[in-house]
Amino acid sequence: MRDGTHVSIQRIKGTQDILPEASRAWQELESVMHRLTGEYGFQEIRTPVFEATALFVRGVGETSDIVEKEMYTFEDEGKRSLTLRPEGTASVCRAYVENKLYGLPQPQKLYYIGPMFRSENPQAGRFRQFHQLGVEVLGVDNPLVDAEVIQLAVQIFHALNIKGMELQINSVGCPVCRADHREVLLAFLERKRQGLCGLCQGRLERNPMRVLDCKNARCQELTEGAPTTFTSLCPECRDHFDRVQALLQTADVAYTLNPRLVRGLDYYRKTAFEIVVAEAAGTQNALCGGGRYDALVEEVGGPPTPGMGFALGMERLLKVLSDQKIELGEGRVPPLAALAALGQSAQRSAFRILSQLRRKGVPVTMDVMGRSLKSQLRTANRDGVRYTVIIGEDEMERGVAVVRHMLEGEQWEVGLEECVEWLERKYR
Ligand code: AMP
Repeated sequence: MRDGTHVSIQRIKGTQDILPEASRAWQELESVMHRLTGEYGFQEIRTPVFEATALFVRGVGETSDIVEKEMYTFEDEGKRSLTLRPEGTASVCRAYVENKLYGLPQPQKLYYIGPMFRSENPQAGRFRQFHQLGVEVLGVDNPLVDAEVIQLAVQIFHALNIKGMELQINSVGCPVCRADHREVLLAFLERKRQGLCGLCQGRLERNPMRVLDCKNARCQELTEGAPTTFTSLCPECRDHFDRVQALLQTADVAYTLNPRLVRGLDYYRKTAFEIVVAEAAGTQNALCGGGRYDALVEEVGGPPTPGMGFALGMERLLKVLSDQKIELGEGRVPPLAALAALGQSAQRSAFRILSQLRRKGVPVTMDVMGRSLKSQLRTANRDGVRYTVIIGEDEMERGVAVVRHMLEGEQWEVGLEECVEWLERKYR
């Protein structure tokens, strides 16, 4: 604060203002997402932006990075611990249980689009407030659901014409086969313990599978050749994974197997997948991640309910679109006409015409700054309108407006009373 009246307040690091020039792309992207999820039979769910902290501790997992170090947690006046949602799946599961959606016909196919909050180190593609499209299918564990969800994720990339995307899949098994895998993996990792990063040494005790997921180059090198889940899968998980792959092949969805893709928490089961874009600038090339979480609904207090879903990062997707020079949609549709009124009584007439046209759904604009005719025409030109409707003192006296076609320069005199109908005809 400099003089007690002037305070310079800036946005929080890791957050963004989406300005008008960028928000168009957001709207277009959102509308593609609403359309495609709708075509796949998903319905939108909107849950609160903050929830009881316990929901995320249980629903994301105590040993996850998110819960260990990335949550925006605060106490409210009633001394309850609340957290800004770091992801959407736990909230959807809570809403499913709380609103008894399990009593409705299954599966429930839900999607959401909205902001998430993680207290991370901001860098390219990594924000503290970012947006996700998420989809969740609750109530059915058929591999058909896994394939359908993965196909939807892939189709979003195709619909946007994104090049160089790669779908990676894995199966993380279930608690039965994971126990076997954990044993052989731990034996393997113990031999490498000294070389692992500090974080991974801690993970060895709590969650050895996550070591495979470490981004540290040395850890990746040391864990090369580590036993994969594939070899430990129990017959049920093996069969499920085989069927998911067969269905993806049937649907012509290309994929690669990535045994390092892990979702290390207990309630993740079977299928895990990620979509990366090869030439995505920077290191944050994972755009979409998902999988099956058959024990999560129970974890947040509901009946045993299988679930499968994904979350897609919208900032990263928009970055790839801009890197690949892909323009979304047709751009801004300019208003049909600009009303250029000179003087107060002409402004009132123009305002009446403006209101009537807008009520009829005809897009029009009007100067509100009392500027000169010349500068109003310049603005109209810049906005790309087809007509300018000029009402000066002279026109007011004669009860007419001069309508000018901005490209062709042709002009007509139209009675003030007929202006609305005249322009409406041009619009339809
Ligand atoms: P996750 O919920 O961590 O599996 O993330 C799903 C997707 O959300 C990722 O693939 C990213 O595209 C996106 N995402 C996750 N964290 C961030 C972040 N901090 N900033 C921007 N996008 C993110």
